[in-house]
Amino acid sequence: MNKIPIEISARHIHLSQKDLEALFGKGYQLKKMRELSQLGEFAAEEKIDIQSNLEPKTRKIPNVRILGPTRKQTQVEVSHTDAIFLKVKPIVRESGHLKGTPGVVLVGPRGKIKIKEGVINAWRHIHCNPKESQKFGLKNRMLVSVKTMGIRSITFHKVRVQVKPNFRLYMHLDTDEGNAACIIKKGIGYLII
Ligand SMILES: [Zn+2]
Repeated sequence: MNKIPIEISARHIHLSQKDLEALFGKGYQLKKMRELSQLGEFAAEEKIDIQSNLEPKTRKIPNVRILGPTRKQTQVEVSHTDAIFLKVKPIVRESGHLKGTPGVVLVGPRGKIKIKEGVINAWRHIHCNPKESQKFGLKNRMLVSVKTMGIRSITFHKVRVQVKPNFRLYMHLDTDEGNAACIIKKGIGYLII
């Protein structure tokens, strides 16, 4: 009873409504493409480019998916590899903890903005609701380990547990972590407390 489904999160962007309008035009609303595993969250149809600040040798990652709904502050989630490519400092942070993180330039169809902070390498985490947390003996914000199986079996340590009523049991890793464990898009892990 310690099986945790794993999802690999590709690089993505959460936008504030203000930044969304700066990139797509006044009054713009995101178009829902598909629902995500966490209730209320969705992948939007819209994509934008991430551009590093450094002129003239600008690095660009084109067509990065936007996730909705809009948030209080814009957050750009990239892998460690992406951060190195963009020449921004890769800082591992939990979602929403953006103080002191690097900024970047975002390029949309109707505008371009420079954010002062918000680029993070997401802290690996498990989402679950209170019922699931009870079943697995998990507590909000605790750190656990999760082992993957297969040819590149790995144990991920310092996995942050996040308990909220609208969450469903999933572990989220970025593409670097997924690649290291040979997991593409979806996998299975085993909880070690
Ligand atoms: Zn997540």
